[in-house]
Amino acid sequence: MMLLSLAEDFAMAATASAAGMAVLADAALRPQSQLFGSTLVAPNRPDEIAFTYDDGPNDVSTPRLLDLFAEYDVRATFFMIGRYVRQQPALARRVLAEGHVVANHTMTHPWLAWQSGKRIREEMRGCNAVLEDVLGARIEYFRPPHGARRPAVFREARELGLQVVQWNVMGMDWRPIGAGGILGNVRDGMKAASEKGVAANVLLHDGSDISMGADRSDTVAATAHLLALTKANGMKAVGVDAWKQEIGNRK
Ligand SMILES: [Zn+2]
Repeated sequence: MMLLSLAEDFAMAATASAAGMAVLADAALRPQSQLFGSTLVAPNRPDEIAFTYDDGPNDVSTPRLLDLFAEYDVRATFFMIGRYVRQQPALARRVLAEGHVVANHTMTHPWLAWQSGKRIREEMRGCNAVLEDVLGARIEYFRPPHGARRPAVFREARELGLQVVQWNVMGMDWRPIGAGGILGNVRDGMKAASEKGVAANVLLHDGSDISMGADRSDTVAATAHLLALTKANGMKAVGVDAWKQEIGNRK
């Protein structure tokens, strides 16, 4: 299905070569690929880190994260699912009021790489409408669920004035690996980013697309360690909006 959707984008016949299809699959799924459109990943600022959280707001873990960020005076970025924002509007407003970046992560979290153009439009526009209604603020950033996208996603993002954002460091906190496992993954990713001379754009989850209130206590615990580590290392924690001028500038 995914490749058919992609073929539709490129008006390609079913006879497209296997190598061509592999290139398209990479562009659709690899977080750092820039082939389908310009994507904000991480600029050449190895002393900076963006803490980014997907799939909230979550009535249990999001407030705990906000308390941690307030304690460390750090700004983070929250890519929210529209249907949860509807359920927790006051929490979404609290995230914004405390100075964090609130961003679009679609209405219901489908894999966009194999959705129709119509569904992509509904998912992206629906989430923007809910966020702007609840927050009374313009939304400027979008992260596709699972990082999966097709050219139609970029077209829609352009029309909505949204910058597509991916990541280069993963906690893999959807796996049952405990806070220590998450922390280890992020530290490995931070080391790799630093060796490339780029910032760390860290993907974690304050919620889950499966249900509101999903248990993210391991992610919260890992975040507490990461904040202490970041501070000890003299790294600067920023919202992704701090990198607005550096789009496409990555290694
Ligand atoms: Zn997600």
